[in-house]
Amino acid sequence: MPVKYICCECGKKYDPTTLAFRCECGGLFNLEEFDFTFSKEDILNNEWSLFRYIKALPFDKDFDLWQYVTMGEGLTPIVPLDNDNTNILVKVDYLMPTLSFKDRGAAVLISKVKELGIKKVIQDSSGNAGNSIAAYAARAGIECDIYVPESTSAKKIKQISSHGATVHIIQGTREDTARAALNAVEKGEGFYASHVYNPYFYQGTKTYAYEIYEQLNGEIPKTIVIPVGNGTLLLGCYYGFKELYDLGLIKEMPKFIAVQSEKCAPIYKAFKEGKNSVDEVTNAGTLAEGIAIAKPMRGKQILEAIRATNGIIITAPENKINEARKYLAQKGFYVEPTTAATFAGFLTYYNENRHHLNGKVIIPLCGAGLKKD
Ligand SMILES: *Cc1c(COP(=O)(O)O)cnc(C)c1O
Ligand SMILES: [Zn+2]
Repeated sequence: MPVKYICCECGKKYDPTTLAFRCECGGLFNLEEFDFTFSKEDILNNEWSLFRYIKALPFDKDFDLWQYVTMGEGLTPIVPLDNDNTNILVKVDYLMPTLSFKDRGAAVLISKVKELGIKKVIQDSSGNAGNSIAAYAARAGIECDIYVPESTSAKKIKQISSHGATVHIIQGTREDTARAALNAVEKGEGFYASHVYNPYFYQGTKTYAYEIYEQLNGEIPKTIVIPVGNGTLLLGCYYGFKELYDLGLIKEMPKFIAVQSEKCAPIYKAFKEGKNSVDEVTNAGTLAEGIAIAKPMRGKQILEAIRATNGIIITAPENKINEARKYLAQKGFYVEPTTAATFAGFLTYYNENRHHLNGKVIIPLCGAGLKKD
């Protein structure tokens, strides 16, 4: 039985063959809960990509089109940051076909798009999600238009166009870019393969949790640090750990420490004020372009997820980003500024709270340094 979309506002259900990208009431789609069983024995041990967890993904039993889409994404290393403190682990999620964690979501979403027989996709992004969708669309033989803000790094734009996608560079803010892409979708120019709107993207990012479970033999760390812009990694991670918890495979949910840029922190602000919904803020400009989302569409869900893990939100100090980038490089990890910002936020928090943080913590290194000068 195919899993349905369910509107997060009014609860109306849609068959996933719909070309609509949100409910007629304007609400975003979630995926309806689906029943599945999963244990260690269900991992496909001879599949060296995140599709080794296909039994936990919402596809039909005989679905095999993913084999024409996968590029071996996932299975990224978890290693100690350095040899002095083996409680701080990094998950090197920039070791991906297009050098960011977004490949997790793109591999699963484009597999679904291929199943639906869609010929052309449209997407908007500040860079990395566009890189991923462009690459996976190319691999799947699907035409692709990507909308990016003018501030996007030249290297990311070159990467997108190299995959054969048409790049539309939009003047103004990240939100203006989203509007331009939506206009094209509404004109019927293509299917909206959005990492923000389409729930299949989050089914891909949830494998981040399944991997941690497999790689650490079920010993999930107490604390998980996650950068948050639109929340695709955070929500995916939440779904993944929640499923593992509900399946009885882990005994406790890890606590989430979400990181926003201090120059663009709408979710942080709502969290601090005890609100249940997120108001738009003005992006004051930051090196952490990958998390600078002034109006996160799933803000409410992100707040709920963080609170459900008994988690917190912190901000990344702008004046520590370059220093953090250098620090990580001197440990051997060359990351892009958004990832350095995530780390800078964590390090500031860690230095003030290290006595409260017992046990291990995992920080993702989400984007590679070569994506940006
Ligand atoms: C996309 C991205 C993020 C933030 O992810 P969201 O889904 O927007 O929360 C963080 N770091 C890097 C490198 C990214 O590409
Ligand atoms: Zn609705």
